[in-house]
Amino acid sequence: MEQGIDKILLTEEQIQTRVRELGAILTAEYADKNPVIVGVLKGVVVFYADMLRQIKAPCQIDFMWISSYKGTESSGMTVRQDITADIRGRHVLILEDIYDTGNSLTFTVEHLLAKGPASLKICTLLDKPERRKPGITLQADYVGFTIPNEFVVGYGLDYNEQYRNLPYVGILKPEVYQK
Ligand code: 5GP
Ligand code: MG
Repeated sequence: MEQGIDKILLTEEQIQTRVRELGAILTAEYADKNPVIVGVLKGVVVFYADMLRQIKAPCQIDFMWISSYKGTESSGMTVRQDITADIRGRHVLILEDIYDTGNSLTFTVEHLLAKGPASLKICTLLDKPERRKPGITLQADYVGFTIPNEFVVGYGLDYNEQYRNLPYVGILKPEVYQK
């Protein structure tokens, strides 16, 4: 196991099995819809590349990059890089790494809905429902795994930009972030 990893939560095999299952469901759902598949950077990149190859239907890819900022009075999200496709009247599928407090996904959904898509669905690799902020009612349409309230890394997810390249999802040793 990699240095700094305490425990593997989802093995490479478990993830790949689930990606194939989700791929089959999404292939059926989007068979004749030519969806625009929007990845939310950067954490989604590994899941995105694996999912894309399991969605065996015509589709278009796009990405957006959002980040959080802390203002003097409020904290919020901002679009660092927007999608390039015109999604008006198109079927859009958002791929996300993790649905945590819900800030990112809620912001992303509102941003994309304002562009007038024909439909908008969400597929997230991980869901941490215990962390959801009160008042956030958005539901993910497709969830890879529901996980406990632990900070996880790997398979695209980072801690200080490290660990994204691990093929599994693991839990960090507390001493890594207590340093
Ligand atoms: P939100 O809290 O807005 O739902 O999630 C915001 C972002 O926080 C996620 O897209 C992800 O980048 C990051 N995040 C949330 N939980 C975790 C986690 O357990 N591990 C890592 N590496 N990132 C997380
Ligand atoms: Mg992150």
